[in-house]
Amino acid sequence: MATQRDLIPVVDYVRASADKAKDEHTVEDQQAVNEQTAARLGCRIVKRFKDNDKSAAKDNVRRDDFEAMLKVIRVGKLADGTPVSGCIVVADDRLIRRAGDYERFVDAITLEEGRVYADARGFKDLYSEDVESMGLMGAVISRMEVKKMRRRVRQWHRGRAEKGAVPTGGRAFGWKEDRVTLDPVEAAAIRKAVGEFIGGRSLNSIVKEWQERGLKTPRGNDWTTSPTRKMLANPRLCGWRMIKGELVEKDGVPVEGEWEPIISTEQWEALRAIFETRKGNVLKEDGSVRQPLPRDHTEHRYLLTGVLRCGRILPDGTMCNTKLRVLNNRKRGTFRYFCKSKAQGGCGALARRGDKLEEFVSEAVLAKLEERGAVAAREVGPWPGQAELEEREGQMRELRDRFRQRKITNELFFQLIEDLEPEIARLRADRARYELAAQQAERDVTDIRRRWYSETDDDRLDISQKRTYVRECFHAIIVHPAGKGNGSRSKFDPDLLEPIWREA
Ligand SMILES: [Zn+2]
Repeated sequence: MATQRDLIPVVDYVRASADKAKDEHTVEDQQAVNEQTAARLGCRIVKRFKDNDKSAAKDNVRRDDFEAMLKVIRVGKLADGTPVSGCIVVADDRLIRRAGDYERFVDAITLEEGRVYADARGFKDLYSEDVESMGLMGAVISRMEVKKMRRRVRQWHRGRAEKGAVPTGGRAFGWKEDRVTLDPVEAAAIRKAVGEFIGGRSLNSIVKEWQERGLKTPRGNDWTTSPTRKMLANPRLCGWRMIKGELVEKDGVPVEGEWEPIISTEQWEALRAIFETRKGNVLKEDGSVRQPLPRDHTEHRYLLTGVLRCGRILPDGTMCNTKLRVLNNRKRGTFRYFCKSKAQGGCGALARRGDKLEEFVSEAVLAKLEERGAVAAREVGPWPGQAELEEREGQMRELRDRFRQRKITNELFFQLIEDLEPEIARLRADRARYELAAQQAERDVTDIRRRWYSETDDDRLDISQKRTYVRECFHAIIVHPAGKGNGSRSKFDPDLLEPIWREA
């Protein structure tokens, strides 16, 4: 359930038409609609404004409540200090009729970033590039005026961001209402999720855990995949800001915010590296580079699907090599990995007990991880490109200084920038990749065995996490047939498994 403090505080405005006979909406009707809108959009109405439109057509009629509301919106709070972050109306035409009033309203509401404006159909984006989507608001204000307003808002927005000011607007998950101090429960949940996600756990399984734990978004909804991804990709987590997809920087360095960070900047860079990689292709053009972390494209319910391959030799002398599937016998509570039928592209002549296979592979993976964990900490040093990156960033700063002091021509400045910027971007991406690898190595593998086999512990590994470890260890595991007949009925023989290890 959303608590009161999680709802966006708004005011609502209704206007009774001068011509009662023609007006289908009474004041009460409009207020009832606004209440529904507020409830639906996660808002709560903290004050209501109402004008009787004695003569809306005349320019000199002053609408007292409209003026009072503008004042409240402009300062962002009521007289008693209650914050106000937006406004709800039934429709644009209730709010106003004359262009001048629209401008004053938009002016007031966009004075601070993150304020909301909604009509019965939902939120309206006052910062939209598309004037039409603003409805009447857009129709009345000329394109020029809209652009001017938007530019002013953006500058204000950017100016604040460059000072590291706390983003305005509603509470963000992980922080308390002041948007500066951490909410201990939510921040801990984020920290745990980030660590596990970098470690290879799938977003879906994290989301599932959050749902089970009853964690809610600031608006009181269950977390789903897409908002979770968006939340994790937001550099706010590490104290940085992003505007229009770019980090807010000053002199080439990300600006540090005034709020408490939840994760380190290195962790966020690692998150970004994962998201970026997932956006692109799994393999590069030469086919040699794989993702820093193998990704589960679909949720797998079994540990070894996609890893096990059929090792049966076909009549033409080649190996079948088909990926094994799972056949679950619910009645008996057992399952088998098997090679699909000829019609489906396999040989259909190999099957093996699932529990035995998984037990064997789990032990092999754990042994490898425990061995690797012992040496990992020693092997990972600092990123070797740090000096080069600092030098390039220094050059960038100097260039900007000179440009600012007009000691360099525009042409030369942009020419030099064009070389320098991609170089810096490349180095930063390289650092992110390196840190990702480093974090992977530093993962705590000491009690991995307990977490692997636990069914109840909070930090137990789920299938997607285990699969990541399995795939880190093996390219594939070839399952050779057990002599004549169906292997599933014969004794389990580990020698018939041929692991193809990845080089560490
Ligand atoms: Zn086969």
